[in-house]
Amino acid sequence: MPASPEAADPADPGRGGEEVVLASANPKKAAEIVAIVGDTIRLVPRPDTVPEVVEDADTFLGNARLKARALVAATGLAALADDSGLEVDALAGAPGVRSARYAGEDATDEQNVERLLAELAGNPDAGARRARFRCVLVLARPDGTELVVDGTAEGSIALAPRGANGFGYDPVFVPDDGDGSTFAEMDPQAKHDISHRGRALRALAVELESS
Ligand code: IMP
Repeated sequence: MPASPEAADPADPGRGGEEVVLASANPKKAAEIVAIVGDTIRLVPRPDTVPEVVEDADTFLGNARLKARALVAATGLAALADDSGLEVDALAGAPGVRSARYAGEDATDEQNVERLLAELAGNPDAGARRARFRCVLVLARPDGTELVVDGTAEGSIALAPRGANGFGYDPVFVPDDGDGSTFAEMDPQAKHDISHRGRALRALAVELESS
């Protein structure tokens, strides 16, 4: 049984079989990943010496593949990369692959949320604030093969931030599968059970166990 995400420590990676370098440097994402697949694969942190790739693809899959393949090339080991973001219908799918940089290259989570709320100010109805988080995971191997899985969480954008948990756009994302709380008002396990990343990771665990 995997540990809960809160208990998972990315500095003490999983103990599964195949050795896989984890591309994500975000400790909250890394903890979620270790919690779900850390018993199936042996996750090792990305070496500090490997430079970060420029995420300039125009799809989540493209960026996840860039990150995973760069790590395979640099380490000679299999690598697991995640790319994720928020798509808002009224904004034609923005911020999308630019979610982390929506308010500028070095934008904070708060600045990104502020820009999102400003862009949606003319769309107060929940229907016009439809949105979804997407997560794509790529596990690339040195022999050139790869596993690709994805996960989606449907929801809507709240009128104002609520809650202190999580990261990114969690304070303004109200998932359809919840009780009206934002992701940031939910405890980490409750978010994980219905989140895009949780769904993608569980799909990866199923693929790994059957391969
Ligand atoms: P990435 O590191 O390029 O995948 O950037 C993903 C960005 O999308 C993050 O910096 C957040 O802004 C947003 N994001 C992705 N997943 C989540 C989530 O679970 N909660 C809140 N924001 C998220």
